[in-house]
Amino acid sequence: MGCENTLRCVHCGFPLKSLYIQYSPGNIRLMKCERCKKVADEYIECENMILVIDLILHKEKVYRHLFYNMFTRETLNFEVWLWKLAFSFLILDTYKIFVLSRIEDGLKSSMSFASLISCYAKLLMDVGFGNLMFLMMLFLGIRVLTRASVGTTSFKDALLAILVSSYFKIFLLSTMIWEFPSSVLYINDIVVLSSNTVALKVITESSMPRCLAVCLSAYAVKFLVMEMLNGALLIFGGIDWA
Ligand SMILES: [Zn+2]
Repeated sequence: MGCENTLRCVHCGFPLKSLYIQYSPGNIRLMKCERCKKVADEYIECENMILVIDLILHKEKVYRHLFYNMFTRETLNFEVWLWKLAFSFLILDTYKIFVLSRIEDGLKSSMSFASLISCYAKLLMDVGFGNLMFLMMLFLGIRVLTRASVGTTSFKDALLAILVSSYFKIFLLSTMIWEFPSSVLYINDIVVLSSNTVALKVITESSMPRCLAVCLSAYAVKFLVMEMLNGALLIFGGIDWA
């Protein structure tokens, strides 16, 4: 998804024309970075498992490998992937709220059809408005970040980086099999937030505290909006879980 369609050194982000020279099929030599003199992208020869471990460890270089060298606009149907990931993000978000309500409010399995419908309507409204505000805050934050830095990041690139780096949300699916206390879901949120921060830093080339501030404020606004919606719906009475 590299914003300027250039390959980059995973260590320092320096733009490169190529990452390796191929002599014959399976026989390649990795290029060194002109700026930091390290091998520009050693992940090309790494097992996928190492990539996954480094991703979990939030290493900036693996995010650079993913965003600039692996999924470029040439190798990726950008728009399609953006929609697919956004859709999965929303589904997982809805599922998380559903699980949280089940844990905290003790959602009854023997609900009437009407209350089940109103329950889902409320869920979708919460997630819809919450994520709309999240998107707006993120947009504002990224505008502030990119104006201050050298890179010219488009919002779509940054949004795709945020969606990809939210991969830890998949963990939510394990709640289908095992029961967890709600604190585990909040810890999952923190991991997603930190992963998003690293991804935003890599894609905007801005500083870590600034990226953390942007992600934190976007999630805080989303949380507040969803809480306010919850409160408003309870006050105006129409829709309730029970
Ligand atoms: Zn370098």
